[in-house]
This record gives sequence, C-alpha cells and structure tokens, in this order.
Amino acid sequence: MTAIILFGPPGVGKGTQAAWLAEFLGVPAISTGQIFRANIEDKTELGKLAARYIEHGELVPDSVTNPMVQARLSAPDVKGGFVLDGYPRSLEQTYILRDALAKEGIEIDAVLELVADEDKLIQRLMTRAAEENRSDDREDVFRHRLEVYAERTEPLATYYADQDLLDVVDASGNKEQVAAEMLKALKARKLA
Ligand code: AMP
Repeated sequence: MTAIILFGPPGVGKGTQAAWLAEFLGVPAISTGQIFRANIEDKTELGKLAARYIEHGELVPDSVTNPMVQARLSAPDVKGGFVLDGYPRSLEQTYILRDALAKEGIEIDAVLELVADEDKLIQRLMTRAAEENRSDDREDVFRHRLEVYAERTEPLATYYADQDLLDVVDASGNKEQVAAEMLKALKARKLA
C-alpha cells in the first residue's frame, strides 16, 4: 500500500504527473478535478452543481467534494494504494481525509508539493487552454485560482511538513525531469 498526495498550483502539471506516478506505482490516480469534469460532461446533478464553482475558479463546497472522495476511496481498487491529485485542497479537507483514512487504517506515505514560478504556470496554462478548452483556463479565472490556491491550499505545505511527510518538487522542467524529481523524493523515503 502506497498512499501519496500531490498538490501544487493550477498549471503546474499535477494531473500529468499524478497519472504518470500512479502508473509507475501500479495504483489508481484519484483526481477530483477530473471527476468533476467527467460529471460536467455527463450532465449529472453533481456536475451541474460543481460547474457553478469551477467556472469561477472557486472550490467546490466540502459538502459535495468530501463525500465524493470518500466514496472513491472506499472502492476496491484503492486497497493497494493511490495517488491523490487535487485533494485535499484546504486544511479542512486534510482533517476530513485524515479521519477517513484512519478509519480504514491507512496512513499517508508522502505528500509531494509541485512548485514552479508564476510565469511558468501562465505559460503552461496558455498551452493547455489551446489544447483542452477547459472552462476555467481563461486568464481572469486562472488568476483567481492562483489566489484561492495561495489562501486555501498553500497552508497544506506547513501542515504536512510538520508531520515530516512533505517533499517539495521542482516542477519547472519538462515532464521527464519532473517525474525524475518526484522519483528522487520517493526513493529517499524508500517508496520507489
Ligand atoms: P484541477 O483539475 O485539480 O485543477 O481542479 C479544477 C477545479 O475543480 C478546481 O479549480 C476546483 O474548482 C475544483 N476542485 C478540484 N478539486 C477540488 C477540491 N479538492 N475541493 C474543491 N474543489 C475542487
């Protein structure tokens, strides 16, 4: 069982790296953003609700997000471990996650914070906006997402560093370089 959390600002490449890491470890990647987007595409009630927040760069309320993640974490394919991408995103969510995992007897093995400077994030966003046409990749919404990140998500770094779980990963390089940086951190913890 290897349980890893990935977090980082919008545009840092979390989704790409989470997918790669999950495949490398042979565990599922659980991406809350992707689950929301799939629901929006399928026009489910959850999707309709989430879209109202996502389009404005706001966090989807915990009353929606937490039960959704808990349901996903109780699926059988998660028993061997997982890479969480985009959850938790606030201190409140870290507490909910801690309690949910404690009930299952699961401990987080490592938390990787992907970092890159703002110019790089905006540059990546521009590329993704052209490729994926996401409703929240407009520049004004993106700037707001960066603010929400700084305010709500950045405090996770201290929270997990205090538990000796945090590794800060330089995500300014290309895909392969970032993957190598993540591996280095996991190897140091004997997780890879
Ligand atoms: P992401 O694909 O991780 O960039 O997420 C896209 C959007 O989905 C975010 O800007 C939020 O609006 C929403 N979202 C994803 N994960 C969460 C979460 N853990 N809590 C609340 N909202 C989330």
